[in-house]
Amino acid sequence: MGNLIDGRGIAEKVYVALCAQIAELKSKGITPGLAVVLVGGDPASRAYVRSKDKMSRELGLHSVKLELLASTSQSELLKSVEELNRDPKVHGILVQSPLPKQIDEAAIVRALDPRKDVDGFHPLNVAKLAMGDATGFVPCTPLGVQRLLIETRVDIAGAHVVVLGRSMIVGKPVALLLMQKAKGGDATVTVAHSRTKNLEEVTRSADILIAAIGQAHFVRAAYVREGAVVIDVGINRVEDKMNERGYRLVGDVAFDEVAPKAKAITPVPGGVGPMTIAMLMSNTVKAARQFSSS
Ligand code: NDP
Repeated sequence: MGNLIDGRGIAEKVYVALCAQIAELKSKGITPGLAVVLVGGDPASRAYVRSKDKMSRELGLHSVKLELLASTSQSELLKSVEELNRDPKVHGILVQSPLPKQIDEAAIVRALDPRKDVDGFHPLNVAKLAMGDATGFVPCTPLGVQRLLIETRVDIAGAHVVVLGRSMIVGKPVALLLMQKAKGGDATVTVAHSRTKNLEEVTRSADILIAAIGQAHFVRAAYVREGAVVIDVGINRVEDKMNERGYRLVGDVAFDEVAPKAKAITPVPGGVGPMTIAMLMSNTVKAARQFSSS
């Protein structure tokens, strides 16, 4: 399909550019290092951590995979985070979410050295994004969405972007990012959520529609203007007896009916997902560069 945005292909392009930056850092004796902390055995989290570790290794980064028991206490996890904060070989730290219920996730995020917070969830990095300070770290999925739009040569400046969802992981940061007075920004952004009135009318006014709500196939054809660009962040499991796993992954957008109307659209899987990991690697290299120049 001609209007498909190929997230895997664009992620490959990102990796090629990153390889050059990694080689340059290595020539100065610096190997960018990423530590991924997994607490407990949630199968989806395990799979995410595995693919992040694999990609770090493929790029030649120093990769630390810390697997802690589901019974790990708050103070034990804090101790691990503090050790990683002090480790000069580690430039980026990611604590995989969700965490077991005995853990205060916000306190763990606040304990991270903000210079190593490659997920961009530390309050200092949230503030830097709001303030337009480019030394901060922007969460990986929003950064990936912006990069997909830039690489697809979608005009962001002046466009009406409607973001469906207002989470701290996707909705809010992607809105802040695309409204920045900067390259890849300058959009007019509307953020819609579960309390939004006349939702269909709001989303139909979008030049660029970003769906991040976690509801399978929620965005039907009637929600989308002819010629809009549609970015589907959603990852939802739906039962599929034909699939050996018993389920398949689908987005928040009813792809088959929306795709014919869209100027460009991301598939699920193969759209935003691969970009999220690519941006994690990119943030890690950025952290290493910032450490080397500080
Ligand atoms: P959250 O559950 O944290 O947030 C969902 C948001 O969507 C909320 O703001 C909620 O509104 C809004 N919402 C839910 N239902 C509706 C509705 N019917 N109409 C309008 N708004 C609605 O989800 P996340 O932001 O963490 O994730 C969203 C999706 O993106 C999920 O499918 C997740 O798996 C996926 N995801 C994908 C990533 C990737 O790499 N591709 C990375 C991260 C997430 P309200 O605030 O009013 O409750």
